[in-house]
Amino acid sequence: MLDTDNNKQSQPQRSWRQKNDQTDIMSGLLRIIYSSVPLSLIAILANSTILSIVQWGVIAHTTVLTWFGITNSLSLVRLGFYFKFKRLDPEEDIPVFWARLSLIISAASGLTWGAVAIWLFPADDLVHQVFTAFVIAGMCAGAVTTLSPILSSVYVFILCAMLPIVIRFFQAGTDINHAMAAMSLLFTLMLLSTSKKLNYTIRESLLLRHERVIAEETIQQQAHYDSLTNLPNRRMIIGRLKQEIARSVRHKHIGAVLFLDLDHFKTINDSLGHGVGDKLLKQVASRISQRMREEDTAARLGGDEFIILMSEVGDSAVEAMDNVMTLAEIILHLFDEPFFINEHELHVTVSIGIALFPLTESSPDQLLQKSDVAMYEAKQAGRNTIRAFLPEMQKTVDDRRATEKGLRRALAKDELELYYQPQVDADNRIIGLEALLRWNHPARGVITPEEFIGFTENTSLIIHIGDWVFNTACKHLAELDSGEELTMCINVSPRQFGEASFVDKVNKVISTTGVNPNNIQLEITEGMLIKDVETAIEKMQLLKSIGVSFSIDDFGTGYSSLAYLKRLPVDILKIDKSFVLDIDRDENDAVIVETIIAMAQHMKIDIVAEGVETGQIMEYLKSAGCRKFQGHLFARPMPFNKLLTRFPELKKPYPGAKVIGIGSS
Ligand code: C2E
Ligand code: CA
Ligand code: CA
Repeated sequence: MLDTDNNKQSQPQRSWRQKNDQTDIMSGLLRIIYSSVPLSLIAILANSTILSIVQWGVIAHTTVLTWFGITNSLSLVRLGFYFKFKRLDPEEDIPVFWARLSLIISAASGLTWGAVAIWLFPADDLVHQVFTAFVIAGMCAGAVTTLSPILSSVYVFILCAMLPIVIRFFQAGTDINHAMAAMSLLFTLMLLSTSKKLNYTIRESLLLRHERVIAEETIQQQAHYDSLTNLPNRRMIIGRLKQEIARSVRHKHIGAVLFLDLDHFKTINDSLGHGVGDKLLKQVASRISQRMREEDTAARLGGDEFIILMSEVGDSAVEAMDNVMTLAEIILHLFDEPFFINEHELHVTVSIGIALFPLTESSPDQLLQKSDVAMYEAKQAGRNTIRAFLPEMQKTVDDRRATEKGLRRALAKDELELYYQPQVDADNRIIGLEALLRWNHPARGVITPEEFIGFTENTSLIIHIGDWVFNTACKHLAELDSGEELTMCINVSPRQFGEASFVDKVNKVISTTGVNPNNIQLEITEGMLIKDVETAIEKMQLLKSIGVSFSIDDFGTGYSSLAYLKRLPVDILKIDKSFVLDIDRDENDAVIVETIIAMAQHMKIDIVAEGVETGQIMEYLKSAGCRKFQGHLFARPMPFNKLLTRFPELKKPYPGAKVIGIGSS
């Protein structure tokens, strides 16, 4: 079972896209035909026995016996084929041989019944003649029900069985014989027409079922496979990992997880564009899949990160590590050959981290973390190399796990808090707020997101945190006087944005908190858009249609490609603070910022500069054309209460306040 799953996963495309509808339906029809063989054979045995007994007195015994022998020998042959058919793989298409065989056997079987009209038809005994006609007609009626799935089979059977008796009656000469001939002919035509109708109904129902199966497979594919490379995605590999860990515990085998991360992928993306980056990822995926062992599974975690899950690499840790190293070397050398994309020849290397299981208790998440830490070590060691997870690295993993555990507790115990940092216009008026996460750790004090957001990306925690942030920011927004276009800027993490339910969640929170979507701006980074641009654009457009706006955060640090940006429904760019901080000292930064501003103006995209710490920087930015600012110069991020005390004008007026004001004046 596991193994067939395996094959399917490494060939997801073949299983659903390339499947030919026609062969699929033909296979279904053949399955129905062959499944009714036992019933037909019983009917043949019973009818041929009765017929032989009845005709025993009026036909030569050797003739009766010969006919009986031939008819039932054919049945034995059919039984043999029936068992052979049953051994075919139920998942595979049925070879065309079986369709031909069905036709030949139907013809042969029809002829044995047609032969009744020749051999077992007494010359002048009307009663026995009618009896033979009755038996043949009965057999044909039965054949309509069992052979109709394939029209040629049922037609050939009916014609071979019925035509001889029609002719025989016709030749017999008397009026009643002629009438019998006419009746038999009529009956034949009726049988043909009935089988045609039945055939149509059966095909229709198979087609419907086939379409449903295809639809289900498509949904499965989308939920479990990465749309760019067609490799299993994170969700799928986590599931597989769980199974594999359990299996290796049961069978006392050792398996391995390889964490692959391309070296300098970002540079390729930045310099050659996302189209090239995407093609490279595809080629990498296919190179890896081609050289993997049958029993292994490759997956794409996202970005330029791949996983290879190797089951049963050894019985002891030493043996397993030995084998995995050999296999990892092979993978590493897959990158010796350059990749050819468009007109480019790309030399790409990869860093590989290895973690074995089940050496200590390991969940899929922990295992991925271990292999991730090992991969990081490989990067540190100069890239293009392999590192296995070592006990010394355990501390890093433990720290992460402690933080992770702490964060789960923080969510439950309300230790998370949102700080808000104002954004101002050129006249220092507040036009927006950015929600920034803080963790009020009971022992360590206030912890900034830089210390924990990064690695929670690789766990489901980020989703819970992201949900909490969005919900809380909207609740606070509802308490603010946001009438005059105050924007609440909320950071969205890649994993959160990538969730299929992201748009629904946002909609739900907006409707439960009653905020105006026009006041909400989601900050995303360029990196999170490269994974699946089409889906990303679709999500953005859905949210934009209700009024939510988007900004590109940390602009300038990532995958900035102008052509690419044009396709995105983005409202505003946030120039990263790393450029802004030194703008008055570093000429390079100044040029970058000026270019970004000019470019954005050209594309009619708004700009906000973050990290504005001094008046000089502000003046510089103003002269370059920037009109929106965020930074310590105006305010540091602060708790919500403090924000309201410091900027009381942000607070929503008490609903009755104005009326009271008018009344008392
Ligand atoms: P970011 O989105 O680039 O946020 C801006 C960061 O710049 C904030 O750091 C802010 O405190 C800091 N900053 C603002 N003005 C100045 C300035 O004048 N000088 C300097 N040196 N720094 C300034 P913070 O709050 O530590 O947040 C760090 C990062 O953590 C954020 O970078 C963002 O990527 C992430 N983050 C924060 N809150 C969330 C959140 O709710 N969800 C997610 N997914 N990420 C968050
Ligand atoms: Ca931000
Ligand atoms: Ca930023």
